[in-house]
This record gives sequence, C-alpha cells and structure tokens, in this order.
Amino acid sequence: MIFHNPQGAPELACDECGCRWFDRINNTCYECGAAVPPQSIEEFQKALGEHYERTGHKP
Ligand SMILES: [Zn+2]
Repeated sequence: MIFHNPQGAPELACDECGCRWFDRINNTCYECGAAVPPQSIEEFQKALGEHYERTGHKP
C-alpha cells in the first residue's frame, strides 16, 4: 500500500502489517516477511517520480 507522509511524499508500506521497513534486496517486509508485489514497487516509484516533479525536488 502507498500512503503519503506529512510532507506529501509517498511512502511504501506493507500490505499485510502496514509497516514501512523493507528489505530492499529481497523486496520483503522486515516486520512480517511478506513479499512486496512488483506492482506495488512500480506504483511507488511512479508516485515518487510524480512527487518530485510536483515539488521540484530530486532524490
Ligand atoms: Zn509486513
């Protein structure tokens, strides 16, 4: 799931437990071990790109 932090930047959270910590090597949740669907990661990257375009900030 994707939500937005108070700064308006998108953050990726686990679909299962809602935590925001991921093992980015294996794309699994640190908390419950659930796999992050590639679709979610794609969505998140897209949301992040749009956020950067909107704010003019680049990573
Ligand atoms: Zn989790």
